[in-house]
Amino acid sequence: MRPTFHPHLINGSTGDPVLFVDCLFEHRALLFDLGDIQALPPRKLMRISHVFVTHAHMDHFIGFDWLLRILLGREKDLQLFGPPGFLDQVECKLRAYTWNLVHNYVSDFALHVSEVDGNGAGRRASFRCHSAFRRVDETGVICTDNVLLRESVMQVRCALLDHGGIPCLAYALQEQAHVNVWKNRLQELGLPLGAWLRDMKQAVLRNEPEQWQIKVAWRESDTQRERLVSLAELKPALRIVPGQKIAYVTDVAWHKDNVKRIVDLARDADLLYIEAVFMQRDAGHGQRKFHLTAHQAGEIARLRTLAASSRCIFRRAMSEKTGLCCAPKWRRHLAELQ
Ligand SMILES: [Zn+2]
Repeated sequence: MRPTFHPHLINGSTGDPVLFVDCLFEHRALLFDLGDIQALPPRKLMRISHVFVTHAHMDHFIGFDWLLRILLGREKDLQLFGPPGFLDQVECKLRAYTWNLVHNYVSDFALHVSEVDGNGAGRRASFRCHSAFRRVDETGVICTDNVLLRESVMQVRCALLDHGGIPCLAYALQEQAHVNVWKNRLQELGLPLGAWLRDMKQAVLRNEPEQWQIKVAWRESDTQRERLVSLAELKPALRIVPGQKIAYVTDVAWHKDNVKRIVDLARDADLLYIEAVFMQRDAGHGQRKFHLTAHQAGEIARLRTLAASSRCIFRRAMSEKTGLCCAPKWRRHLAELQ
């Protein structure tokens, strides 16, 4: 089974936190946290459609300027999410530059920024290149069940955590379901692999009726061929299984309320990224800095409410072994990715 999400900590487990998640078949990527991103080539940065920032401490947000630098002048709408206060923080970053020449760009690059309070409410505003990145279209938003991104293929949900008196968001990326295609059964139907599979998978995830028609186009001996097939015809070649889930948690104080929220968010995650800044013998220091120790992160990961087969990746682990077991369905591919 080929996973849809291909996550990668671009600065390893000890550098600035940035989780790049490439989305197979979607031709785009998501970013969790925005620390130093210069290790990512521009072609990958240009794939990013959504950025989810946990909080604006420097190591989580310093990459904003570089992302802006790469995307400036391009035809792109970038969505950013962050905790309360995030709109002001983005606006302050943008105000630090002089924008008297940006009207010369043909494209009107736009940032659409949302700050959410973790209780289903928030505010949203846009900043457009041709308007010298002035804050416009500000409005309140409702995030039912704290879902920030809801699409037929995937959703992203957040939880508000406490990082020593400042709000810090944790995120869970969930594939709605995973549609497997039996290649040999497609061959029996006389159908090739191709881009049409993406349309088909989206139709399945949208719960379209069985008579829904998919256009299959391919080239054969220099001849362009085309055929309409219904979902009912395709059914024998498909198998729908639970989707992939990735949780991302960092910079949180160790206390009961945080732990409960993390467990709720990360329940049944195939992969949990969680910070482990201090060794357990430095737990007092961790408490003062509002970070988890490796042991505390492990305790959260081992809570019974997490899937027994889930895998945990500790960020900045200084002690304890990393890499618990991995759900068999993803094991091979994740092993290749890490
Ligand atoms: Zn922090």
